[in-house]
Amino acid sequence: MAGLAAGRTAAIEGGRGTACLDQGRGLRSTCGPMTEFFDTHAHLDFPDYAGDLGAVVERATAAGITRIVTIGTTLEGSARAVAIAERFPSVYAAVGVHPGHVDESPGEIRPALRDLARHPKVVAIGETGLDFFRRPGEPEPDSVADATNRMKQASLFQQQLEVAAELGLNVIIHTRDSFAPTLEIFRPHAARVKGVFHCWVGSLAELREVEGLGSLASFTGIATFKNGVNVRDAAGAVATGHFMLETDCPFLAPVPFRGKRCEPAHVAQIAAAIAEVRGLSLEALSAETCATARRFFPKL
Ligand SMILES: [Zn+2]
Ligand SMILES: [Zn+2]
Repeated sequence: MAGLAAGRTAAIEGGRGTACLDQGRGLRSTCGPMTEFFDTHAHLDFPDYAGDLGAVVERATAAGITRIVTIGTTLEGSARAVAIAERFPSVYAAVGVHPGHVDESPGEIRPALRDLARHPKVVAIGETGLDFFRRPGEPEPDSVADATNRMKQASLFQQQLEVAAELGLNVIIHTRDSFAPTLEIFRPHAARVKGVFHCWVGSLAELREVEGLGSLASFTGIATFKNGVNVRDAAGAVATGHFMLETDCPFLAPVPFRGKRCEPAHVAQIAAAIAEVRGLSLEALSAETCATARRFFPKL
């Protein structure tokens, strides 16, 4: 383990004080100094966790991660997310269709989404949004198919915003190489629905636009990467109350786990990096980010 990472881990463990687990519910109680954190974006329904999900959730609890929001990316995956939330007291669900999965999705998702979203442990709609990313050197896609895909992304994003507004839920937004068109669709809903622009990698100007709409950014393990300077700058500059922490696991494991399977326990490393750039103690960051998450997801 690298020196810096080891130091951070020690700081987290040192700051947490005595372990205060409420054995009955598996959640941390209010005794002792609290440095609990939430993983506001995990994909626990992915096959990566099929073999050891119980142990993954236990490790998160032991690391002080007292809430996990597991995020659907398809209707079927959203139903799995809800079932996982039913199984673990600390896990909640968001239901939605990711822009990368619109081709396999029905064109009309509102009735199915409403049914899923009425579950008491569903705390948000998503992830939804627009993804216009192309890998470098990727051949130009057939322009008709591409235009059709983008229109469907926009339509399903719109539908998810409508359902969120109807049900009084906020929205988890995925945007990649598509910030301006994403905001164009989101903006008319911004008075009724807040968005968290997850896995934030945008510019400071874009961050100010998000804050101006009363919405949030959330930061992943990229904040710990050597080449994550822009993300650390954003995490240092974002207004208080306008950001949360997430893993986006199984992706984006923070240093010192980079390249391995990520899991919710790794929020501890992300929190240490963000506390450092904001000049905050872990206790102060814990209080701030958990309060923000509870405002954004009132059922947590
Ligand atoms: Zn995403
Ligand atoms: Zn995700």
